[in-house]
Amino acid sequence: MTIILAREQEYEIIGPDGNFPVKLSEYNCGCGSWQISGIPCSYVMASISHNCGTKTLRDRVPMYVHQCLTKNAYMQTYRGMIHPLPDKKMWPKIETGKVLPPPFVVQSWQTQNTKEERI
Ligand SMILES: [Zn+2]
Repeated sequence: MTIILAREQEYEIIGPDGNFPVKLSEYNCGCGSWQISGIPCSYVMASISHNCGTKTLRDRVPMYVHQCLTKNAYMQTYRGMIHPLPDKKMWPKIETGKVLPPPFVVQSWQTQNTKEERI
């Protein structure tokens, strides 16, 4: 993997899958993985490593992970009480009818395509 510094916090990473621009300040990578997952991809990790040096990499990576994936966000999500449940054998029996799959419906786009093919 080759790292080319374009300007501060902006890199071009040349890897086995192609060239990818990385803009650390904009949380943007050309492969798109970082924007979708919120977790730095290998190209972003290479850029962070080049940007801050390997000694502080461990401390800097959390800055580039999406806020919703942090420990603080996790703790906020589960800060409420989760009450314990009794064993499944103790749950009350509920009579329900037989569960059937939803009715099959032909989507309108399929109908339109079929009509076009007939013409
Ligand atoms: Zn990427």
